[in-house]
Formats: sequence, C-alpha cells, structure tokens
Amino acid sequence: MDSSLSSPPASSLNDTALQPGAQWHNGFASLPPVFYTRLQPTPMPDLAMQAGNDALAQEMGVRPDWLASPEATQVLGGYTLLPGMDALASVYSGHQFGHWAGQLGDGRAILLGEIRSAAAPEGLELQLKGAGKTPYSRMGDGRAVLRSSIREYLCSEAMHGLGVPTTRALSLVTSPQPIYRETVETAAVVARVAPSFVRFGHFEHFAAKDDTGSLRRLADYVVERYMPDVAQHPSSSPERYAALLAEVAERTARMIAMWQAHGFCHGVMNTDNMSILGLTIDYGPFQFLDHYDANHICNHSDTAGRYAFARQPQVAYWNLFCLGQALLPLIEDEATTLAALERYKTALEPAMQHVLGAKLGLDPAHRPAPEAVAGLVNPLLALMQQHRTDYSLFWRALSQAVADDSLPALAPWFHGDAGFETWCEQYQALLQPSERTASAARMFAANPRYVLRNHLGQEAITAAQQGNWTPFQRLQTVLAAPYAEHPGCEDLAALPPDWAQHIEISCSS
Ligand code: AMP
Ligand code: MG
Repeated sequence: MDSSLSSPPASSLNDTALQPGAQWHNGFASLPPVFYTRLQPTPMPDLAMQAGNDALAQEMGVRPDWLASPEATQVLGGYTLLPGMDALASVYSGHQFGHWAGQLGDGRAILLGEIRSAAAPEGLELQLKGAGKTPYSRMGDGRAVLRSSIREYLCSEAMHGLGVPTTRALSLVTSPQPIYRETVETAAVVARVAPSFVRFGHFEHFAAKDDTGSLRRLADYVVERYMPDVAQHPSSSPERYAALLAEVAERTARMIAMWQAHGFCHGVMNTDNMSILGLTIDYGPFQFLDHYDANHICNHSDTAGRYAFARQPQVAYWNLFCLGQALLPLIEDEATTLAALERYKTALEPAMQHVLGAKLGLDPAHRPAPEAVAGLVNPLLALMQQHRTDYSLFWRALSQAVADDSLPALAPWFHGDAGFETWCEQYQALLQPSERTASAARMFAANPRYVLRNHLGQEAITAAQQGNWTPFQRLQTVLAAPYAEHPGCEDLAALPPDWAQHIEISCSS
C-alpha cells in the first residue's frame, strides 16, 4: 500500500471515506476560537499506510475498503484533508510531575473532525498524532517517531482488547522523513479515535486565566455531549458542575481499577494526560508489568517515582483534585467540590473488588466482603513481590489451576514458600467447589493470555524499522483478543527475556 505523493491532492475528494448516512460533524470546532487554532497538517513525503484497523473503521462509519485506498494514506498521514473536516489544535494547560506547567496544548496532535454515523450516533473524533507543528508545539517539532507510534497504536488496541477504557488507533502511516531525537529516526502518524480528547488540562487552562465564561462553556459542552445524566441539572447551576466532577471521578476510578488489575503502568500521569471521559490517553513510557513490583517505575525520566505502579490510584486522586480546583468557580463551594471528589474513593473500592473478584473467579452473586477479597489479594501480591513472580502469567496459570483443580501444583512459582500453601487454603475456602468450572471460565475471561510487554513492542519496532511488519501484525491479532488462545503464538505469551529489564523509555518521543 505504498503511495508516494508528488502533487497536491485533487480537490474533488468527497465522501469516498464515509458510509452512506455518515457525516462530518465537528462539535469541538463549533466552540469559540479561544479553545483552539484552526490549521492544516504539515505534509511529509512518501507516505505509506502500514496498519489499518478495519474493525474500528466499521464502528466509526468509515467505508470498509477506504482504509486500503491511496486517499486514506494521504488523509491519515496528514497530507490532505477531506471536505467536511475542520482541522484544529486545541489549547490546554496542566500540572506535570506535580508542578504547574502553564500552557501546553496539542503540540503534535491535530483534530481532523468528528464522524457521526448510524454505527456511532454520538460521534467519534479523529485526531492525527505527529502531523506537524502547531502554535502549541513550543520547542517540539510536531512529529512522532515510528517507535513511539508503534507503541501507541499497539497499546491503544491492546487496552481495548482487554476492556480498559481507552482512546483507539485507526491507522499508522509512515514517512522516511528524518526526525531528530537522540539519534536520527523516521516519522509516523497515528490516527487516534475517541468520543472526545478533552483533558483535565483544558479546564485548568481556563481556570488559570480566570476565564470563567470559557470554563463554563467547556463544561457545558462536555456535559451536554457526553454526560446525559449530568445534563439533567440545569445549565449554569452549581449542581451541574459538581455532578460533572463526580462523574469524571467515577469514570477515572473505573479506569484506574482496570490499570491496577492488569498491571498497567501509565508512566506520565500529568493532568494534561488525563481524559475527561476517563479514557486511557497519551501512550508514552507505559509498561505492563513483567514480574510484579508495586514500586515499578516505567518512565526513565521519573527519577522520583511519582508515577510508580502502586502510586497510580493516589495520583489519579491528586489529578482529580486539580480538576476540582479548576471547577471551583463553577461549583462555587469548597465543601461541595470535596464531596464530589469523594466519589473517586467510593467508586474505586467497588471497582477494584469487581475486577479482582473476576480475576479470582469469585461468583459475583456471592462475592465475599470487601475485606475478604483484599485479605486474599494483598498476601498474594506480597508473595509475588517477594518472589518476582510474573504478573500476567501467574494469573493465567491460576485460572488454569482452578480449571484443573490443581492449586498445589503452582508451588514452584513461589519457590515452595509455605506462605503460598496457606494462601491456597484461604483461597479454596472462598471458591465454591461446585462452581469450579464457572470460576475458571470467569478467570479465563478476566486474566489475559497476552499483554503488550515492553520486549514484544520492542521486537515489533526493531523489525518494522527494517521493513518487516510481520511481528507487528502478529501482535495486532493476539492483542485484539487477548483472553483467547492463539495457536502458533505461544512465544507472545512467554516469560520476558533478560534484556527486557534493560529497556529504557521516556516521555514524548
Ligand atoms: P507528553 O509528555 O507527550 O504528554 O507531552 C507534553 C506536551 O508536549 C504536550 O503539549 C505535547 O503536545 C507536547 N509535545 C510532546 N512532544 C512534542 C513534539 N515532538 N512536538 C511538539 N510538541 C510536543
Ligand atoms: Mg500528552
């Protein structure tokens, strides 16, 4: 699907991309200009479509054969726009590593527009990451290198496959254009998809400017577009904005519970990387844990460990607190704001119970008391920490052991530690023997066989840099259905090699 472009695109491009009845709608662009700058992507040479997501295209209302067309390469590679698109970069601010960073904004992301279709009546936005400079690029070049684009594409889809709320990836287009990082690399553009890319930082931006009118406008936009229950509260009422905060807190809690359950470390949980819809966004130095380590830091630049794995639930609250401060001029009352933030705490515990209960195969109809689930999980995690147990592989092995009624056979995972024997007794007391098959089925649906480990991503990157996209495509297939067995792909569900420990990943490449 190589498409080298030597001349500007024809102006006759029309609705070749969309299914009948689908339309560009562009809700964000209908907000006042203070929220964004209209602009065009900056073209790059010799674009090539390397990965297309047919399932997502279908969900968006894009024609099934369009992704494979030369036109799609031009549009999704940032060479040209389709009629109906209203391209822009939005402005936001944020707290980075605990400090106010001032104005940031879409420095290398360009929103092309939003598609409304029978498949997605609520609308899905399409955004290009790495499509050129914007007024918010600061010192950056507006580009993303192939390496980080592969990671973003694969991880968005891996998270979706796991059932974790996330932005999605529609396509990955490459260009040989040199990009200067520590070494010279090449460029890529990922087309991301989400109902909205609004971040906590968008609210912080207008609050910091004391622009309460724009703050309210943005809050009303988010509520009216994405939160029908919250929209029941009258416009401009403090209750509406407190309900907005509580809704974001609840969605964030559900997302964080899934991150913790799956051993996902985001790596750069700055407030500008927090989605107002509770979606995982901005895949940079992320990592799925190999061996379990509560203190794991996946971002090489995070020297203080602010975003260490086990700190994520607290950091999410800290970030929500910043959002609460930003919304205070609309909520008008500190106690009400704090009460709305409490929703995070009250939602996190049941969300954790839910995902951990599923991982343990406990019957949701007879789930033990929260303390009993915590009393079971905490000692298991302590054993895993002590014995450097592979996190995902162990949960899957536990699922199999429940299916086979062979828990004691797992003793070697903990080097014969007597603590594991005790743990098995405790666990077995909570599992209904008559329910063993049902428990195992629940566990196989909650404990993935495949996760995007760093070394797997790295192998796909190294091959793709040499023009071989087969490892990428194999990952794409298994990660789309990570709870299923994929015969012939056992190597993608194996223990990581020793070199995996030495992979170093930082922000913004
Ligand atoms: P991140 O750490 O990736 O969330 O990025 C923080 C900010 O830096 C955001 O405003 C990004 O848009 C911006 N940024 C990161 N990399 C680049 C780049 N290569 N060019 C322009 N802006 C960038
Ligand atoms: Mg970011």
